[in-house]
Formats: sequence, structure tokens, C-alpha cells
Amino acid sequence: MIRITGKTRVLGIVGWPVGHSLSPAMHNAAIAALGIDYIYVPFPVDPEHLGPAVEGLRRLGVQGFNVTIPHKSAIIPFLDRVSREAGLCGAVNTVRRDGDLLVGHNTDGAGFLASLREDLGFDPRGAAILVLGAGGAALGAVAALSGAGAARIIVANRTAERGASLVERFRPVFGGVGFSLSSLCPGELAGHLRTIDLLVNTTSVGMNGTRFEDLPLAELRSGGRVYDMVYAPAETPLLAAARERGLTCANGLGMLASQGEAAFSLWTGIEPPAGLMKITLRRELEG
Ligand code: NAP
Repeated sequence: MIRITGKTRVLGIVGWPVGHSLSPAMHNAAIAALGIDYIYVPFPVDPEHLGPAVEGLRRLGVQGFNVTIPHKSAIIPFLDRVSREAGLCGAVNTVRRDGDLLVGHNTDGAGFLASLREDLGFDPRGAAILVLGAGGAALGAVAALSGAGAARIIVANRTAERGASLVERFRPVFGGVGFSLSSLCPGELAGHLRTIDLLVNTTSVGMNGTRFEDLPLAELRSGGRVYDMVYAPAETPLLAAARERGLTCANGLGMLASQGEAAFSLWTGIEPPAGLMKITLRRELEG
């Protein structure tokens, strides 16, 4: 049970819309379990009013907040500083107050790597990886995989220019990674699937009953792994196909929980109880 006092510190999430967010449930579960004097609330912010809203959060003394769609990049000009990770991928998912300054961080990449390790037993060092998508989630994933020592990353996006601009952003920074581009054509994907260790879906395909119609998953070599950042539904058509083929696979729930754990530690200086955020998310999604 959270008790609000005159000293309660406020955390939250800025997004539009934000009513569907599972972050309040997982952060408040950790606050309640630790018995610390914090509360985490949703802040629905229309894109037109992002600047004044951030200024308002600053003036109200909010301790920190998460940032979600569509503000992850747009918020950067309204912050005082961004961390190296956030600057590298041009996206902020966590803001922390440091004195009078608002500092942007990105915990999505660390959350993704933690989930790869815990849910797939996968270490990107020296690996070949096919990334589907080139949006905000892909930026964080490719930066994290490159920083973790991936040998080869192929980016396959529906809109070719967006894929190319993602690769051009990272190529000069990560000289040791072999970057290449692909279309989503089945023939081209089949060639890549035969040579990779991990397939990552960072697109929104898999949500709301959508699916990749022609993804030639049968070409993925045995021992290849599949990670889908989508977590609702828990089993996307891509993950169902991977499971049928006996491939090791995981959805994005672990990433959502891990990025939340990292944000919580940044704000409070305390690690949330192990596994609590993941259990809370699972319960919310099932319930
Ligand atoms: P975004 O910036 O809007 O990018 C969307 C991506 O999906 C783009 O690459 C887009 O391709 C592609 N796409 C959309 N519809 C498609 C279709 N019908 N066929 C092929 N490609 C399609 O969104 P985002 O922030 O990257 O988020 C993407 C997904 O990742 C969402 O489902 C989000 O919930 C999930 N996500 C999960 C976590 C987690 O913690 N598990 C964290 C972040 C994001 P184009 O460039 O061609 O439009």
C-alpha cells in the first residue's frame, strides 16, 4: 500500500496516449514492496504541448519520468543534457532530475541486452544478427548490440531510406561491426536467415493481429534464436512459428521489465526487488 505524504517524491511517464501503459503498475509495485516514499503516475502529453509540459514537470519538482511514444526523440531539445547512450541513438526513455537539471537517459538498450541474456541465454559478442525494423526501438537495439560486440548486423526495414539512415548513423561509431541492409523480400531474408545467430523483430508487426506474411523462418539455422520486442500478445505469430520449429525464443516482456528496473535504480538509487516488475507485468497482461 502506497501512502502519500507531504514529502512524497513524484515519478511518472510522459506519452500520448499513455492510458495503456503498464509502467505505473510495475513501478508502484516496486515502490510498495520497498516501502519508499515515492509515487509513479501517468502524464498524458499532447505532442503540441511537450515543451511546456517538460517545463511544468521541472517546476513541480518531479524527481524523474519515463518517456514513451511519440516523445522519445522530440523531448531532447527540452532537456539540459543527455547521456552518451541516449545521444548515440537519439532517443530518451528516462529523465532524471540532477539538482535543477533534467538529464535524459536511455535504458531500453540495457534492458534489451539483459533480456537477451536472461530469456535467451544469448551473448551478442561475435554474433551475426538480423534486425527487422528501423524505428525508435531498432535504434536502441542496434546501438546496444553494437556496443556489446556484435560482429555483423543486417537491418531489414520496409522503408529502405529509414534503414539506410539507421546504418549510416552507427557505421562511423562502431567500426568493428559489419553493417548491411536488406529488404523484407522473402528471397533476400532467406539468404540472411541461413547465416545468422539471432533474429530480432523491432517492428510493431505482431501487435493487433498483424503478421509477417512471407517471412521464411524455416531457413533460420537450428540453434538460431528469435526475439520479438512485441509483448502483447505474449505469443506473436512469429514466436508461435519459432516455437513450432523448436527454436529458442522470447517476447519483449523481459526487456520492458529490465528497462524499468534500470530507470527505477537511476531515480531512487535502489534496485527494485528481483523479478517483481516482470511478475507484475505478466499479471497485468493476463488480467
Ligand atoms: P516506430 O518508431 O514507429 O517504428 C515502427 C517500425 O515498424 C518501423 O521500422 C516500421 O517500418 C515498422 N513497421 C510498422 N508496420 C509495419 C508493417 N506492416 N510491415 C513492416 N514493417 C512495419 O516504433 P518503435 O518505437 O520502434 O516500436 C516498435 C515496436 O517495438 C512496438 O511494437 C513497440 O511496442 C515495441 N517496443 C517494445 C519495447 C519493449 O520494452 N519490449 C520497447 C520499445 C518498443 P517503416 O519504417 O517502413 O514505417
